[in-house]
Amino acid sequence: MMPRMARAHRLEIVPLGGLGEFGMNLMVYRYGGDCVVVDAGMMFPGAEHLGVDVVVPNMDFLDDCGAIHAALLTHGHEDHIGAIPFLLARRDVPIYGTPYTLGLVRGRLAQHELDASPRLVPFPPDGTALRLGPFTVETLAVSHSIPQSSMLVLDTPVGKIVHTADFKLDPYPLSGPGTDLARLARLGEKGVLAVLSDSTNAELPGFTAGERTVGPALARAIEGARGRVLVTTFSSNIHRLQQVIDTGVAHGRKVAIVGSSMEFHTDVALHLGLLRIPPGTSVTPEAAMNLPPERSLFLVTGSQGEPTSALARIAVDKHRDVVVSDGDLVLHSARSIPGNEKSIGRMINHLLRRGATVVTSEDAPIHVSGHPRRDELSLLLHLLRPRFLLPIHGEYRQLAAHAAIGRACGLDPERVLLAESGDLLTLTAEEFRRAERVPVGQVFIDGALDRVDFTMLRDRRQIAGDGIVIAVVAVHRDSGSVSGPAEIASRGFVSDATEEELLREARDVVALSLSDTSLEERADEGLLKAKIQAGLRRFLRKRTQKRPLIIPVIVEL
Ligand SMILES: [Zn+2]
Ligand SMILES: [Zn+2]
Repeated sequence: MMPRMARAHRLEIVPLGGLGEFGMNLMVYRYGGDCVVVDAGMMFPGAEHLGVDVVVPNMDFLDDCGAIHAALLTHGHEDHIGAIPFLLARRDVPIYGTPYTLGLVRGRLAQHELDASPRLVPFPPDGTALRLGPFTVETLAVSHSIPQSSMLVLDTPVGKIVHTADFKLDPYPLSGPGTDLARLARLGEKGVLAVLSDSTNAELPGFTAGERTVGPALARAIEGARGRVLVTTFSSNIHRLQQVIDTGVAHGRKVAIVGSSMEFHTDVALHLGLLRIPPGTSVTPEAAMNLPPERSLFLVTGSQGEPTSALARIAVDKHRDVVVSDGDLVLHSARSIPGNEKSIGRMINHLLRRGATVVTSEDAPIHVSGHPRRDELSLLLHLLRPRFLLPIHGEYRQLAAHAAIGRACGLDPERVLLAESGDLLTLTAEEFRRAERVPVGQVFIDGALDRVDFTMLRDRRQIAGDGIVIAVVAVHRDSGSVSGPAEIASRGFVSDATEEELLREARDVVALSLSDTSLEERADEGLLKAKIQAGLRRFLRKRTQKRPLIIPVIVEL
């Protein structure tokens, strides 16, 4: 690191995640020895992260980066708040956000049995600026696919920075004031040094449609339904859920919330008055199943086909309360996150096989994105007229597309910076450039919602000490039958003396889990893996008090 003196009069902007990858957004702004952090998110593991539950950014940089005055949260999506417990484990900092965002953070911390309530501070509701060391921060309400999202306006010693985070302009928002275009224009007139803005949809032409446009298509689908209606969407998309509830209730249906994430997000929203379920129309999933089918509406988790989610379990008759059958309607009111298409596809196959009708956003306009497209990004730049642009929140191709939009808006190509996570950028009134690299990367967490693992994370040596267990199971593609016993290997888990005996027993545990699966489950790799993992995790924890990373591998014969 450079000596402090050399840093004076320049602002350092350090993305520790979110640039060049989707997820785990975390940005550090530093002036001299004073920092603020914007967002601390996680990434949902993909197929390449076999068996890992959560991926968070490497935060080594934060250990000796100076005084961190605050972590400022733009909104409550997991890719912006999911790493907060892990940030708090390293540095004791106040966390600022809107009430809904903080409500979600509070719930997440409670899952880790961590009470950080005194450290959770709401943004001043009247728009008063926050003073944080050399920074002054104001928030600006924006439309997005979750309530109470904010852009941040950071007044720094080198100039004004607008950090848009995730937003869309949505001229007809379902509730709230929407994105304040007039205020953006005023900011532009006063002078903006740099804009850091959402690149997610930068490759797509035009404007993202407003949330309201989804309502009529949802209404058409629900209106014509004669059986049960199940709707899945992201649990935090409260405006979408509100539209579904309003339509369902208007057609005489009662509403049941299914799945822990859906319960959690709607609870926080109901508590804050952001979601309304008319009195007398809210029922338990069990009670809803006892109603005539045409009187029930289920809001269920599982829009990404996650094997342990409510809808994935319903789809194979493995849910405790809810069954789907002939004549029921399932609405998939969400996008498929790249990488999840296969598990979503398998889930849909199971639902269709049971006689349900499945409608996705490819069949009807029942989903809109929460991110701005090309023309919105361009409009924003015209309003703010920044000197510099840094595209954030996207893979490199989206960042590059966003940079091209900046140049097309008349920004000097030299003032549009393409950077990736780990680049330490320096900004002065004259210059914005890449200066050096800092350590970044993905940190894998297994069983992240468990207190044991949270404690483990604080002591990385312990994680390393618990090692890895790999279980290989061979399944005949045609018959779905399992071929021979599982092969189980471990590294860094237990001593050689105890390993052999333990792994032999583990093999029996896997055999037992497999004997309890239906043919359909065995044909579904995601479900099969989840089952093997759950059985082994329970067994190994009981026998060794350890939580190794468990990686099930299915080989098709
Ligand atoms: Zn995001
Ligand atoms: Zn978001």
